[in-house]
Amino acid sequence: MDRTTALKRAEELKKTIADYLAIKDTIATGFSRWGKIRERQEKIRELLGASEKDWFNWRWQIRHRINDGEMLARVINLSPRELEEIKLTGSKFRWGIVPYYLSLIDPDDEKDPVRLQSIPSAREYYDCTGELDPMDEELTSPAPAITRRYPDRLIINVTNQCPMYCRHCQRRRNIGEVDRHTGRSDLKVALEYVAGNPEIRDVLLTGGDALMLSDDTLEWLLSELDKIPHVEIKRLGTRVPVSLPYRVTRNLCRMLSKHLPLYVNTHFNHPLEITPDAQEACLDLARCGINLGNQAVLLKGINNDPMVMRKLNQELLRIMVRPYYIFHAKNVQGTSHFRTRVEEGIEIMEKLRGYTSGLAIPTYIVNAPHGYGKTPMLAEYLISLGKNKVVIRTWENRIMEYENSEE
Ligand SMILES: *Cc1c(COP(=O)(O)O)cnc(C)c1O
Repeated sequence: MDRTTALKRAEELKKTIADYLAIKDTIATGFSRWGKIRERQEKIRELLGASEKDWFNWRWQIRHRINDGEMLARVINLSPRELEEIKLTGSKFRWGIVPYYLSLIDPDDEKDPVRLQSIPSAREYYDCTGELDPMDEELTSPAPAITRRYPDRLIINVTNQCPMYCRHCQRRRNIGEVDRHTGRSDLKVALEYVAGNPEIRDVLLTGGDALMLSDDTLEWLLSELDKIPHVEIKRLGTRVPVSLPYRVTRNLCRMLSKHLPLYVNTHFNHPLEITPDAQEACLDLARCGINLGNQAVLLKGINNDPMVMRKLNQELLRIMVRPYYIFHAKNVQGTSHFRTRVEEGIEIMEKLRGYTSGLAIPTYIVNAPHGYGKTPMLAEYLISLGKNKVVIRTWENRIMEYENSEE
């Protein structure tokens, strides 16, 4: 067998990822930074007078969410001006960060991707563009707590609470000053709506963060959904594996495993968020039969870089999380500094396809105005579609003819 051609092709393939290989290890992850993160955790623990046991207790983490500028300044290096800006922005948009997520931030790096997602900036305050409800959620709620935009599936919003409040939050108008879980009576009406509409086969519990509910409330909800014969699958929307992995307790896993098929979609945006603790939470969920997906948001200065996105999606697969969507950032008031152009998203997708595992490739989505639905933004690989032939473009940009016939 003559392998000359194959060997030449293998050399050519190596060259297509030489640029990535050259910088791959310079993109920090929660694993490569773990030593530093552990040191910061010690420091924050001391500051809050907490024991090691407290630290791993998710309720302790929620109770000690940092939402005070002075306290923050004891962990993160802030100039007096930054501190003023945090206070100013805090008067308009809520902020709060659990100690775990705070520990991921490099205190000296003002461009830290975790910091940009969690610490308020004056740009939010002064942003006059955008709408508060660009997807008209008000107009797509046929029953309390329900958002319905599709024929066979819907969302039940179960809480407005999160372990940390994302600065790019697309639902920030729901994140009021008070933590509130949706009341039982509203949940019951929502469940009745699901029961009364037999075409609904997929119910997504989200919020806020669905895993902010107690195990008991979640179990009640999942059991009620299991009683509805036409509900085939259930999903949870949660950022807990990223922001508060200690919420994934043995009890929670045991309870969730009784309600399969269950899918969890989470929200990692940068490889720095993939830590040993996040990995443990994801593997625990996977071990009890839960399928994990990731919904990232394309954010300027955080992940609008083809190499960072490639690394993120590869690292996600290592912790058993399947990249599902990359959302284009919507036009929500206070978030315009994160917005990119659609071309940037397309370019990122083009630098994934072919270059890395198909499993590591999510779908890039723009949410249509007025709640008309998720719309895929696709790179063009079909150049022309003729009667007897199609012209295709390969991932390496080779334009090729392809016979288009049935026999
Ligand atoms: C995103 C979303 C869903 C789920 O959509 P999939 O594409 O099936 O993941 C369902 N309902 C609403 C209102 C949504 O916004």
